[in-house]
Amino acid sequence: MADSVTMDALEAITTFESMRLNDDVLRGIYHFGFQKPSAIQQRALVPIIGGHDVIAQAQSGTGKTSMIAVAVCQLANTASREVQALILSPTRELAAQTEKVVLAVGGFVNVQAHACVGGKSVGEDIRKLEHGVHVVSGTPGRVCDMIRRGALRTRSIKLLVLDEADEMLTREFKDQIYEVYRYLRPDLQVCLISATLPQEILEMTNKFMTDPVRILVNRDELTLEGIKQFFVAVEREEWKFDTLCDLYDNLTITQAVIFCNTKQKVDWLTEKMRSNNFTVSSMHGDMPQMERDAIMAEFRSGNTRVLITTDVLARGLDVQQVSLVINYDLPNNRELYIHRIGRSGRFGRKGVAINFVKSDDVRILRDIEQYYSTQIDEMPMNVVDLI
Ligand code: ADP
Ligand code: MG
Repeated sequence: MADSVTMDALEAITTFESMRLNDDVLRGIYHFGFQKPSAIQQRALVPIIGGHDVIAQAQSGTGKTSMIAVAVCQLANTASREVQALILSPTRELAAQTEKVVLAVGGFVNVQAHACVGGKSVGEDIRKLEHGVHVVSGTPGRVCDMIRRGALRTRSIKLLVLDEADEMLTREFKDQIYEVYRYLRPDLQVCLISATLPQEILEMTNKFMTDPVRILVNRDELTLEGIKQFFVAVEREEWKFDTLCDLYDNLTITQAVIFCNTKQKVDWLTEKMRSNNFTVSSMHGDMPQMERDAIMAEFRSGNTRVLITTDVLARGLDVQQVSLVINYDLPNNRELYIHRIGRSGRFGRKGVAINFVKSDDVRILRDIEQYYSTQIDEMPMNVVDLI
């Protein structure tokens, strides 16, 4: 850990203009609505553009993924038709969201980006890739497949980004990531991005990174001031449902995400809410991709306000209107807690997280509270004023 730096130790570049970005990238940034770089962008963007391997950790919603979009727009040589940057994300929704940001920021430089994700037409992927794109934002399975088929040519890929890197390096994805990595050139630049980077993940980075610039956050600084955290003690599982119904009016003030731990529970809760005349939508990984996309589009547009889901949406999802997160079930690990509550309070906005805790869950909640040195109080009567 001797070579790691905290945010303060790295020089902060406080304006986009002083980052030596291409004029058209700069135009794209302003056109997209960014005025000033966030703290992580002030410290990590220049090293990334400078070609360094970078490990960038920062709180949720502080502009990490957006920073990657800016970086790939800057790095892409649009005179070529080869893929030059590969961004891997754990879910299709996140890969697609990132593709959209790249296209938006890169509009004036004409960056061609493609979301290469499972559940979509393989033929369409092949066609897009043959036509030529500069940036691929994908999920590991489909990207591996496209590389093996020779449709995704890797020889010009200069930059590999693992967004939600700690998730990407867990057992489920690791083999696929290493397979992709084996196809990439030896002088590849690698960037790891996440709000949570547990020690065991940092320890394995020397296998595929060279002398990285490390920007890390202490775990007692990981929760955001703007997101107030509460719990409701429910004693028994059956009481959660009534608690949720009581809270429903608060959920619809802006937008809310409700997390359950299983797909079955999502289906069950959705049905039960609907049969009690509450309007809710739901999404999980067993649904056909077309339906997942339609539900996401509805939620992003604000047409549906309450979304019941699994951890498939715990990470990365950026819907600025979400101000309330409910953990109907407590998450299965400490990292997921940070990611779930971070769906609210995007880029300095206010957020509220409410945890439903059964008697035997109190211990888990106290552990989270201690681990992050944060405060999770009993939900006050006036919670609505905080949303
Ligand atoms: P993270 O990946 O850290 O969770 P995102 O990149 O998804 O964060 O950004 C969160 C939100 O903040 C997005 O809506 C994004 O458009 C916005 N955002 C990012 N950077 C800036 C900036 N410099 N100025 C204003 N808004 C920004
Ligand atoms: Mg992100």
